[in-house]
Amino acid sequence: MYVISGPSGAGKGAICAGLAEGSNIMLSVSMTTRAPRVHEKEGISYFFTDRERFEKTIAEGGFFEYAEIYDEYYGTPKAPVLEQLEKGVDVILEIDVNGAAQTKNIVPDAVLIFIMPPSPEELRRRIESRGTETPERIAQRLARAESEISQIEKYDYCVINDKLKKAISSVFTIMRAEKLLGGDLKGRILSLNDMTAIRRASKLRVSEGAEKYLKSYKQ
Ligand code: 5GP
Repeated sequence: MYVISGPSGAGKGAICAGLAEGSNIMLSVSMTTRAPRVHEKEGISYFFTDRERFEKTIAEGGFFEYAEIYDEYYGTPKAPVLEQLEKGVDVILEIDVNGAAQTKNIVPDAVLIFIMPPSPEELRRRIESRGTETPERIAQRLARAESEISQIEKYDYCVINDKLKKAISSVFTIMRAEKLLGGDLKGRILSLNDMTAIRRASKLRVSEGAEKYLKSYKQ
């Protein structure tokens, strides 16, 4: 299981779409009480619902994890995730920092990946260019970005989304390396590609220098 987090506007959605394309990775679709954006589709972007139904689902234990963000609920429906995990399918959750921490408690070997915008200016530009957010919402999202980035140490890996294709390829590299490292490598002959993936992924480990990522965002 993989968890992808990062500030709103970091490009998580585009990265996840790129990962799911042409692979049999399952992208979990969350339920939310927030209003749909213009291009968003029911059942693909989110399952849009109201507070009453969301709270009923909480009471029924229907969420794998959930959080309240910007005064709206967001949660991962439990049943589809468990079903795919049982089948051995890779599942990706695109969720916030609190959801990531909850997930790590439930599935300790979940791999947590943080997607970092290249700079605060670029983050603001991306959020504003959506044209769907009010100035208050934009300010709220930018303030939340700071707090999310400050929690980067909870993550296993960080990928800077400067160029989308490169970011997608970095996440694929992490997945490949994790599969190799999670298996028994003893006596196994690794291909050059496998070794390259392990080496590249190790450079994206947050433990290799969280300050490096924090500094790159501030500059
Ligand atoms: P947005 O409104 O921009 O789509 O999402 C706002 C935040 O909610 C993002 O950080 C996103 O990752 C997070 N989010 C989306 N779905 C879920 C979910 O099911 N659980 C949690 N914990 N966070 C979610």
